[in-house]
Amino acid sequence: MSADDRNAFEVYRDRVDRPLSRLFREYGASEAHWLVIGMVANVIARVAGLIPPVVLGVAIDAVFTGTGPYTLPIVPDAWLPTEGDAQFRLSVLLIFGSFIVTGVFTYIYGIAANNFAHRVMHAVRTDSFDQMQRLDMTFFDDKQTGEVMSVLNNDASNLEVFLDNALQNSARLGVMLVGIAGVLVYYNHELAIVTLAAIPLMVLFTLWFMRAVEPRYVAQRSVVGDLNTALENALSGVELVKTSNTESHESERVEDASFSYFQRTMSILRLNYVYRPGMELLAGLAFAATFAVGGFWLENGPPGPFTTELTVGTFVTFVLLTQQFVAPLAEVSNIIDQYENAKASCERVFGLRDIPVRIEDDDDAIELGGDARGDGGTRDDRGTDDGGDASGDGSGETPADHGGVVGAVEYDDVSFAYPENALVDPEDADEEVLRDVSFAADPGDTVALVGPTGAGKSTLLKLLLRLYDVTDGAISVDGHDVRDVTVESLRSSVGYVAQDTTLFDGTIAENIRYGRFTRINEGGGDGGDDARGDAEAIRERVVEAAKAAEAHEFISSLPNGYETRIGERGVKLSGGQRQRLAIARVVLQDPAILILDEATSAVDTETEMLIQRSLDRLAADRTTFVIAHRLSTVTDADTALVLEDGEVVERGTHDDLLAEDGLYAKLWGVQAGEIDELPEEFVERARERHVDRAVERATTESEVDSETLD
Ligand code: ADP
Repeated sequence: MSADDRNAFEVYRDRVDRPLSRLFREYGASEAHWLVIGMVANVIARVAGLIPPVVLGVAIDAVFTGTGPYTLPIVPDAWLPTEGDAQFRLSVLLIFGSFIVTGVFTYIYGIAANNFAHRVMHAVRTDSFDQMQRLDMTFFDDKQTGEVMSVLNNDASNLEVFLDNALQNSARLGVMLVGIAGVLVYYNHELAIVTLAAIPLMVLFTLWFMRAVEPRYVAQRSVVGDLNTALENALSGVELVKTSNTESHESERVEDASFSYFQRTMSILRLNYVYRPGMELLAGLAFAATFAVGGFWLENGPPGPFTTELTVGTFVTFVLLTQQFVAPLAEVSNIIDQYENAKASCERVFGLRDIPVRIEDDDDAIELGGDARGDGGTRDDRGTDDGGDASGDGSGETPADHGGVVGAVEYDDVSFAYPENALVDPEDADEEVLRDVSFAADPGDTVALVGPTGAGKSTLLKLLLRLYDVTDGAISVDGHDVRDVTVESLRSSVGYVAQDTTLFDGTIAENIRYGRFTRINEGGGDGGDDARGDAEAIRERVVEAAKAAEAHEFISSLPNGYETRIGERGVKLSGGQRQRLAIARVVLQDPAILILDEATSAVDTETEMLIQRSLDRLAADRTTFVIAHRLSTVTDADTALVLEDGEVVERGTHDDLLAEDGLYAKLWGVQAGEIDELPEEFVERARERHVDRAVERATTESEVDSETLD
């Protein structure tokens, strides 16, 4: 198979080239000063750490045994005291001082390194979140939310660990190796050969380890994906799992995935178990060899080919410094672990980033209703101007002005296919689910959409909200193609009451004003002028909206009224109550166009009446599209569009449609209980239409073959 069993995320992730260097280019550059400060402080702290062994060695020779001069690397001899007592005091001072310097610079390094790492992580996380919000619905249709969560959480944290620990530990390792080797060579290059002989072996051992462990990390990553998918499926489909009694099946899936994760992780750890002690053994051998050769040297003079003299002080310096090797070397496997994780995380971060954002404002996009909003006419004003509309009778002859939008909607030869893998390849589209749909709705009209499930009713309206872009044709609002206006102004002009209402964790009031006055409590701007209104006035409008939505009564009976917390950590509301909150939300939004997805789930008659009354009020002066599940809704509509298999097959008023005696009349008959099921001819017709399309597609692809016609 080609690109496309994988989702867009994976495809773009696999295309990311050299992710870590890209991370430094795109995020590290602006914070580079923190990195530089951190690195410099780290180097100073480590170099200061080398001072005590050196000073101790010098003091032993010059002060205690009197076998050598008091000299220090780099420092001119003229600056150093010549007298024993003073030399001792200076040594003590240097040793004290070096520990203080190490402490102070380790502190500076900690602050700077953490600032660098956390600032980068913060930027990565917020950018990834923004990018995720810009992506269109095609991305979310693929249910990639689990992966996005993992980018925002785990991946950002992995990067933080890498940028903080791994970078600084490798810097420390570098400084220690170079610094210690330098000091050793400076004092006795011959004994240094013995001590440092282990280094090439360590490098070879490390290279072997990295090569051996890399494929195991790749394998581990792939099972992490499986594990996440298994967990996410089981969680998001918990209702299905319970009702179909598949708990044990799901448990097995998770267990399998978790077990392979365990196995892959163990295979990495097994290598680690060899590598870590291996490195410690090599460092220990270096230490033992230095001690053996140096000790022999002190007793018997230079062994074998060596010729230089070795003092006790130098010997002590060697032994102490060789000891210091061990700790940073033991970090190497951690550094590699953090590096591997960061690389994978970085690929995911940029994989998400690289998914093209397709539904965006054009450079010259205009504000829908901009003429009226123009100078000073803000969205907020309109609400106050026509605040009465929400509960008005809407019998007005002139179309109401909702923020300058009157709500004339026109579909012109609209065709649409869900982009199956369009994120990857825009040409790769699925079968068309809407074909050549044309109609016009005048401001204030109510248009009912009728048709069997899967006919394309919801899709038709998603296009109006520009959750997707049409494949062919055009949709316009007030004469403007929806692609030519800003997405923000378009969506704020279209209200949507879904079948199943999403409520956020928060109070009732917050949920009602969500979208319009989302952030009043913070007193800050909302990106628009909305937040300027004073909190009290907004509260009143929330109550007004709730009244118009027939929700005020039940809200008032809740323990804390409008401040009652709902959602995950609050009270649970019934379907009918939730829907009325959704209606209140739209009343407050006051859009020129309204989309209603009539609920199929049954509510009691009284609730239904309340909902119906509030919807009628809401729809009164707006262009309204209703996905009608009850044909009784159609009788109230100005016109109905009957969709079948993506095409408008009939249109007109309820009476016209009944008279036409077509699909609508049959659907009506089924619902009214007059006939039992759709007559065979309709089913047959739908089937034929499918065949016709298959033929047409095959022809346009010039690969007609007999199979298609079967
Ligand atoms: P209706 O609202 O009339 O029941 P829809 O507009 O939901 O119909 O669906 C029309 C067709 O589009 C159906 O064949 C459905 O399977 C398909 N469809 C709906 N949503 C998606 C989606 N997100 N991705 C791919 N196909 C979809």
